Amino acid sequence: MTLRFRGKDIPDDSIIAACVRCGLCLPSCPTYCETSLEASSPRGRISLMKAVSEGRIGLDSEVFQEQMYQCLNCRACEAVCPSGVAYGNILEASRAQVEQAREGSLLLPVPPGLQPLRPLPWWLRLLRRAVFGGLFFHLGWFRAFSHALALYQRSGIQAVARKSGLLRWMGMHDLEAMLPPMSRTFVIPQGQIYRAQGQLRFTVALLSGCIMSTAFAHVHEATVRVLQRNGCDIIIPPDQQCCGALHLHSGDLEGGRSLARRNIAAFEGLGVDAILVNAAGCGSTLKEYGDLLHGDLSWHQRARHFSNRVKDVHEFLANIGLNRADLGPLPLRVAYQEPCHLAHAQRITAEPRMLLRAIPRLHLREMRESALCCGSAGVYNITHPEMAQQLGSRKVSHALDTGAEVIATANPGCALQLAGELRRRGKAIAVRSIVELLDEAYQRG
Ligand code: SF4
Ligand code: SF4
Repeated sequence: MTLRFRGKDIPDDSIIAACVRCGLCLPSCPTYCETSLEASSPRGRISLMKAVSEGRIGLDSEVFQEQMYQCLNCRACEAVCPSGVAYGNILEASRAQVEQAREGSLLLPVPPGLQPLRPLPWWLRLLRRAVFGGLFFHLGWFRAFSHALALYQRSGIQAVARKSGLLRWMGMHDLEAMLPPMSRTFVIPQGQIYRAQGQLRFTVALLSGCIMSTAFAHVHEATVRVLQRNGCDIIIPPDQQCCGALHLHSGDLEGGRSLARRNIAAFEGLGVDAILVNAAGCGSTLKEYGDLLHGDLSWHQRARHFSNRVKDVHEFLANIGLNRADLGPLPLRVAYQEPCHLAHAQRITAEPRMLLRAIPRLHLREMRESALCCGSAGVYNITHPEMAQQLGSRKVSHALDTGAEVIATANPGCALQLAGELRRRGKAIAVRSIVELLDEAYQRG
């Protein structure tokens, strides 16, 4: 018997049918660019989904499963599709189907009547449960874990472990090398209001997030200062959680929904003008809470209302009229790497460039394929290291060709991926977020 889509979160047939197989998306797809294989293209993947939907192949098809996970979910195909195929939606539903069918996560029960297929090894299931049901489900746990990581990194244990060859012996060398350095200042205090400098123009709330609040706390601090310079009071609500992007991209849609409900409740009733996000992946997730909770009658309206108020911080700053008068000169050659979830999922491309160009004496150098995925894509560089490295290398080569001294980006995953590739090549080029550059320019102003 062929295993077909069933139970909850079935890829929508009307979205699959909207693909007219024109192939216009192929040149934008990073995995197609690297492999030139039809199966590794958006059109090929949609055909595979259609085949499972029609029962021509089963959910247990190796090529289907391989392609659902080889895809980076970068959504470049979605941005160029003339038929408006909501590819991200059917990809995440397809992954949820695979996970339900193989009982890939202990969090997701196998629907009645559906046989589990090729269950993951027990240790991987436990790891998934610890990561998705624990660390990324309870922000407090994640921060406690991050404190332990900071201790490991700063106490000298990391240096000893790396030099001794222990990590290599344990087969953890590559994985450990991907750990982001924890921020010196660590978590920016939540539950308090940061007051605007000068006349108050807006009151905004800021998503603190998981990795952003521990490994990128300095970016949060820069964001707060830049917003203050632009006349904003900033509230960081205390009860917020991780946005749920990792859960959604890994097929744990219920986990993502649960986090969405907690975040909606945490940001409700603040009376703010906007909910701001400075990480592209988190921003696109928050903007899609309305779709995610579409079938939940008691949360749907609240989710829509929440998503309508979410703004990417670059989008917000560009649209309110940036305070240019206080910006000082920053004589740097900067290449901008576009995060997929900013350029494709949120369609924000002009605003980040506008902010960079607003900084006096900063020279923006456009790189080739600036919107092609850098290979980070959540945990993709862990699950598909080879493809991730090929794409990271391609991206860094284009950035270096511009002669830039700094690569600017707007997403923590991209920043880590680019910094890792630059380190591998021994290049002393900084990777910085746009708000950090703005912050520095204000300080020089
Ligand atoms: S561009 Fe859209 S319609 Fe054309 S093949 Fe790609 S997904 Fe299908
Ligand atoms: S989401 Fe990205 S990697 Fe996946 S099919 Fe679309 S363009 Fe290709």
